[in-house]
Amino acid sequence: MAKIAGVIVAAGRGTRAPGSAVPKQFRPISGEMVLRRCLTTFAGCGLVQALQPVIRAGDEALFREAAAGLSVNAPVAGGDTRQASVHAGLEALAGEPPDIVLIHDAARPFASPALIARAIEATAATGAAIPGLAVTDTIKGIDSHGFVGETLDRARLRAVQTPQAFAFAPILEAHRRAAREGRSDFTDDAAIAEWVGMQVRVFDGESSNIKITHPEDFVRAEAMQLSHLSDVRTGTGIDVHAFGSGDHVMIGGLRIAHDQALTGHSDADVGLHALTDAILGALADGDIGSHFPPSDPQWKGAASDRFLRFACERVAARGGRIAHLDLTIVCEAPKIGPHRDAIRETVARIAGLEIDRVAVKATTSEQLGFTGRREGIAAYATATVRLPWS
Ligand code: MG
Repeated sequence: MAKIAGVIVAAGRGTRAPGSAVPKQFRPISGEMVLRRCLTTFAGCGLVQALQPVIRAGDEALFREAAAGLSVNAPVAGGDTRQASVHAGLEALAGEPPDIVLIHDAARPFASPALIARAIEATAATGAAIPGLAVTDTIKGIDSHGFVGETLDRARLRAVQTPQAFAFAPILEAHRRAAREGRSDFTDDAAIAEWVGMQVRVFDGESSNIKITHPEDFVRAEAMQLSHLSDVRTGTGIDVHAFGSGDHVMIGGLRIAHDQALTGHSDADVGLHALTDAILGALADGDIGSHFPPSDPQWKGAASDRFLRFACERVAARGGRIAHLDLTIVCEAPKIGPHRDAIRETVARIAGLEIDRVAVKATTSEQLGFTGRREGIAAYATATVRLPWS
């Protein structure tokens, strides 16, 4: 089977939109970095065995955030031009050369697995293939004074995109030759392939495969991202733990001093347990007990942040995002109110969310029932999760 690799070009200085301190490939769209969206698609599509990111020196910390948990090669530093950056990425793959390489701009975060599959298939014919879209606007050639010189036949025009796919050895050699001959003016890799005489095939691109170029493109990208995550689900979780002897309770990952402790197999964090079940509920993916059986001694005394982190990873693995977590604690004591924001911060940190997506509320049960008799603490949680509609 042919070995397929990808080069993801993320070395541009990008559009620094007003109010944004980072290049566009590291800016979020609906909470997810542009580059991360790209890497996730290529790493998760099951078609690409090695993924080589190219970044600008100095962007390492941003890259680590974008690639966290994803299976990609260590990034290499790009050059002064896109062409030089692609060349650096190809050289990084040359040690274990693939048969086919897909070269993709990080600024196109919506390339689909189907497009990647078409690119690979189309390459087989000529060793070079690029996605293109028919042009719907009439295109005019103009002179240096702004007057129309000619009207081009749009039936023969294509607006081309990435990923551009090539047999690896010839495109690497073409890039090496361009570098040797001091050519640095190629704006895409197909142009280099054409220059060395490769026949480049055009296959169907995707209109949704937009290139984020101008600040207003982020508005469109946000809308596209949200329409992609259109399967909005709500899950609930309930947990109770009884008081026993001790000097503190764990609630929402926060240690709160108290004249009793909560008893349980793990650290008995009712808040995190309810939140974990709420997220698993939204995924229709079992409950905390089915994933972490109390009969299993390895969870004895376990810190419960791992349970919540696990549920969040299940959301990420489905390509989804957590939109909101809401937790209510029911007890007479300890007083939760003074710790509310600290609990929000802890939950947000564990779940990797902004704090304004985490609500924590507290109430007593007016001295009624088991919580009213101070026999234990109850927690109720709701999770709103967005998944790709599949
Ligand atoms: Mg529990």
